[in-house]
Amino acid sequence: MLPGVYYKMSNLFCPKCGKETDIFYDNVCSDCFIGKKILIESPDIAYARICPACGAVFKRGKWSLKENEITTIIECVNDNLFKNKEAANLVLNLSHKQLDHSRYRVHVDAQADIRGAPIGYSKDIEVRIHWDTCETCSRISGGYFEGLVQIRADKRIPTADELRKCQEIAQDVALRSQEKGDRLAYIAKTESLDEGLDLYVGLIKLGKQICKAIIDVFGGKYSESPKLVGQKNGVDLYRITFALRLPEFVRGDIICANDKVIEVQSCGKHISGIDIETGKRFIENFNDILEMRHVGKRDNAVNAVLVSDEGKTIQVLDPETYETIVLKRPEFLSAEPGNEIKVIKTSRGLFVLP
Ligand SMILES: [Zn+2]
Ligand SMILES: [Zn+2]
Repeated sequence: MLPGVYYKMSNLFCPKCGKETDIFYDNVCSDCFIGKKILIESPDIAYARICPACGAVFKRGKWSLKENEITTIIECVNDNLFKNKEAANLVLNLSHKQLDHSRYRVHVDAQADIRGAPIGYSKDIEVRIHWDTCETCSRISGGYFEGLVQIRADKRIPTADELRKCQEIAQDVALRSQEKGDRLAYIAKTESLDEGLDLYVGLIKLGKQICKAIIDVFGGKYSESPKLVGQKNGVDLYRITFALRLPEFVRGDIICANDKVIEVQSCGKHISGIDIETGKRFIENFNDILEMRHVGKRDNAVNAVLVSDEGKTIQVLDPETYETIVLKRPEFLSAEPGNEIKVIKTSRGLFVLP
């Protein structure tokens, strides 16, 4: 038994309209009970806001990611249906037809009941798309940025290869953030300078993520300095400069570290390479190395003749002075006496390169 509904035997009449009925709702027939009640109220025309540039949709007060246009249209109609709060068991049927580039007709068919009395609704609603540039697109076209990532190298100029790789990493990080829904995670502008690269980023968070991703690959460090640039709705607005420094040494550098002479293979949180005096592998935490300096580069290596190999020592002919020099035999040496080998002259003397 439904509350408020009185089931009686036949041959009873509605006291309001006189119609024969055996089900009463509040003591009248179902038609009299429903009377002027309305299941759904809705406007004739509803508006959907979509960005023509990126397809973002304005929903419930904010811009959301692009979605299927039909989904937007149906949701827009749904948001414009104001249902009678007394209604229960609502079954809604929406069918759409595109009228032109910016207009749809959506037919709404609904069935429900109010305290057991059936009530229906049927109407055509026209949805008009209001093409409106979204916040992100207007920021992008306005060159808006929140952060500046300055990519430099410590005590040297970054190489073209490093900068290319850094740019790739930055773009990758931005793309991944965008895919996760951070629509402002874009690189607004890239500026090549003599001393490095400047990346203007749409989000502060992106600047930090880019620095971390680059340091993961190359090592180095970064610092942040905020600058107050204004206010928006009473909140201070900051622009942050991220000063990123790639490490001082790169692959192929010959350095003197903790009194060993190392050809650098990689330099990040750790420096790894070959000790060219002994031929042994070298790996050390960057911060644990007390003294480090640059003594040469593999590019400056020259050919020299291996005069003799005595097992523990070798003799090499200095290509400039033609003096015979005695060196410790490095483990990696495979040349025979009489062959040419690569050597490098440094402030620490002559060394054979692997
Ligand atoms: Zn009646
Ligand atoms: Zn947009």
